[in-house]
Amino acid sequence: MIRRKHTKTIKVGNVSIGGDNPISVQTMTNTYTEDAESTISQIQEIEKYRCDIVRVTVNTDEAAESLKTIIKNVKIPVIADIHFNHILALKSIKAGIAGLRINPGNIGDKIKVKEVIKACKDNEIPIRIGVNSGSIEKGMLDKYNGDFSQAMLESALNHINILEKESFYDIKISLKSTDVLTTVKAYELLSDKVEYPLHVGITEAGTVFSGAIKSGIGIGILLYKGIGDTIRVSLSDNPVTEVIAGFHILRDLGLRKEGVELISCPTCGRAEIDIVGFAKEAERKTSSMKSNIKVAIMGCVVNGPGESMHADVGIAGGKEKSVLFSKGKIVGKYNNNEVMNALINEIEKITGEKII
Ligand code: SF4
Repeated sequence: MIRRKHTKTIKVGNVSIGGDNPISVQTMTNTYTEDAESTISQIQEIEKYRCDIVRVTVNTDEAAESLKTIIKNVKIPVIADIHFNHILALKSIKAGIAGLRINPGNIGDKIKVKEVIKACKDNEIPIRIGVNSGSIEKGMLDKYNGDFSQAMLESALNHINILEKESFYDIKISLKSTDVLTTVKAYELLSDKVEYPLHVGITEAGTVFSGAIKSGIGIGILLYKGIGDTIRVSLSDNPVTEVIAGFHILRDLGLRKEGVELISCPTCGRAEIDIVGFAKEAERKTSSMKSNIKVAIMGCVVNGPGESMHADVGIAGGKEKSVLFSKGKIVGKYNNNEVMNALINEIEKITGEKII
């Protein structure tokens, strides 16, 4: 059982972050925000995968202008990601965003910073301070002899200080590096110093395969230490994959008991069915499910019946026909070209959830 470190609760739209609230899963769109139609359609797709919060880039006036339409047409809270430009921040707040990602120390003029903070206060919009190893100030890095964790920490504390001086405490913070151990150290240092909720992730983690492993290790270590209130898996891929990966990390650590755990054998010379194809198909079909369920796809009678019986639903492959198990009991024997449909029907039956 993981004991989470105590943090203050903030609200991003209708999602509470920090305290005892469930750890939320976030992603970021990769469409041009100016293109409202494509952005809405991408957000609606990630909503099907139970994403809690989405962030969009706001880097032009046109992007800020399309926010209103986007927000009106999606269900989950939208955060605007802004660098340097306080006018875009003000326009985004006016458009109805639920959160702002901006580093106050990078806005420049104090008056501009105050204007943004006031607008956030008036509209109850939290600010995420996001320090990344790739954009850390050179002077800060020199000060700590190239220690990115210490440099990111000090940079974040400076940004926090700017907000606190204006009595603004509706804050969450991220300190992301592309390196797992640097990221872990940075968050550990920060977590000892602040009670604000932390958004954790490994930045620019890579492709689905390498990036999900890297994120699983980095985010996993932090969550295991009780650090982290909301997560984003950063992958060079469709945002849907980020959401699926995020939920897998939370599920595997027992932090959110929802979604499908797939048990599938690695196959060997005994396999009687196409395990690789079956496992991929089962995963693809069930990856948006909310129900907490364990599904086993096993290739033969050696370990198949045991694992399938211990799962909620499972298949043990056989020559021509495979056995379908549900809640520890045999449901029936199906031809190998029909057993996948039977498995999906059984999952729908026991969960009451329609598979999309
Ligand atoms: S379940 Fe059967 S096919 Fe799969 S790895 Fe084990 S022995 Fe091989």
